Amino acid sequence: MSLPLIQQYLPGYPAHVQAQVAQLHARGKLGHYFKQRYPQGHAIQSDKALYEFCNGLKQRYLKNAPLLDKVYFDNQLTIERQTLGLNTAISRVQGGKLKAKKEIRISSFFKTTSLEFLTMIVVHELAHLKERNHDKAFYQLCLHMEPDYMQYEFDCRLYLLSLVVDKHPASPAAQLG
Ligand SMILES: [Zn+2]
Repeated sequence: MSLPLIQQYLPGYPAHVQAQVAQLHARGKLGHYFKQRYPQGHAIQSDKALYEFCNGLKQRYLKNAPLLDKVYFDNQLTIERQTLGLNTAISRVQGGKLKAKKEIRISSFFKTTSLEFLTMIVVHELAHLKERNHDKAFYQLCLHMEPDYMQYEFDCRLYLLSLVVDKHPASPAAQLG
């Protein structure tokens, strides 16, 4: 695993952390790390279940955020295409008024991950309902919804890196969205 690739997937993390990752990989221990930490999948497989999961978190933590019109798994969002989650406000004319429809799309990739990683990406997209940029206020909102958010984001980046490294050693890093 090359250092530039690690830096791409784990931008802003300290050098000693990046070095540890390279070591884990060199010793063939990355797969073991994930199995041990995140042994279980989850049952959220349909768009309906995803909507309920997402809306449940929103109702609990972001009551004042706009109503979610649509939440669904998207096959088009892939590691190769480099985006794993999207949130959009689509303006549509409805009854003579312009109404913004809030949509959250989550990569179908997360159907097969642990619940922790799905939670991480959902929390990430929900936080974007209120905060546009990846700044301090944004991450505070993420932590408000999921206290282990930072660990999950780190591990999810690491997981993506481990999947990409053997398949597409030269591909650009996937974005969370
Ligand atoms: Zn984002």
